[in-house]
Amino acid sequence: IVLAFCATSLAGYVLGTIFVTRGAGLAAIQNEFLSSVSHELRTPLTSIRLYIDTLREGRISDPVETQRCLTVVHQEITRLDTLVGKLIALSKIESRRAAFERRPVALTEVIDEALVAFKAISVGSGVDLHVQVAPELMVHGDRGALGQAVANLLANSWKYTDAETRRIDVTTGADSRHVWIVVTDNGIGIPADEQKIIFEKFERGTAAIDRDSTGSGLGLSIVQAIAKAHRGKVEVHSEPHRGARFRITLPRWRSEAA
Ligand code: ADP
Repeated sequence: IVLAFCATSLAGYVLGTIFVTRGAGLAAIQNEFLSSVSHELRTPLTSIRLYIDTLREGRISDPVETQRCLTVVHQEITRLDTLVGKLIALSKIESRRAAFERRPVALTEVIDEALVAFKAISVGSGVDLHVQVAPELMVHGDRGALGQAVANLLANSWKYTDAETRRIDVTTGADSRHVWIVVTDNGIGIPADEQKIIFEKFERGTAAIDRDSTGSGLGLSIVQAIAKAHRGKVEVHSEPHRGARFRITLPRWRSEAA
């Protein structure tokens, strides 16, 4: 079932990507993408097969050990499921099939949405979180999707900071035509050469991989796709060991009356 699900979702995503990039002559990019997806799917699948084979061949008699194998299989299936879910979300946004709402949304609503998602992942471990949002700032778009983008940034700040010293700040700002949401942390930071590639699909920083944190390298791709779908952008400022600051900039919306 897992295999069939992955194969169908993968085919959908790949076709979607080919459709989007067709005409641009980006065969090389498609190829690279296919090879990344295949690799990302194969790693957990290989591990699932190994554990299932071990159990099937009756090589383990200890019930505790059996339970441990099943737990690993469960974790790997969850990882695959999350990965495929993210790929589907990206595919929909990039091929413009995502049904985004277009309505006036206050940044306070966007950030509230993000905080609900963030509380679920940071539950149980304290976080020194400071939120300062200008209540009058608005955008025109999808509250849920924009909230997801900010939630991804918060999740990264949480992953790439140390529990003992972790501090995360969320602020907003604006000029006459734009608004922005900034997420700042005091974590491991990102070297300059990696800052160019981290928004690409499946790209992960060396320090992130060394830390053994879970991740698929799709979080920032999703943030960027959502920002672009709202005619906005996302940027990073960071130095190794000196934290990271991510800024999503979006067109400002004002009511007719304002
Ligand atoms: P993932 O977190 O799954 O690796 P992302 O696309 O969300 O994927 O991020 C890509 C990479 O960018 C991460 O692997 C990490 O190297 C770097 N990164 C993102 N956010 C931060 C942050 N707040 N602090 C340090 N590094 C970060």
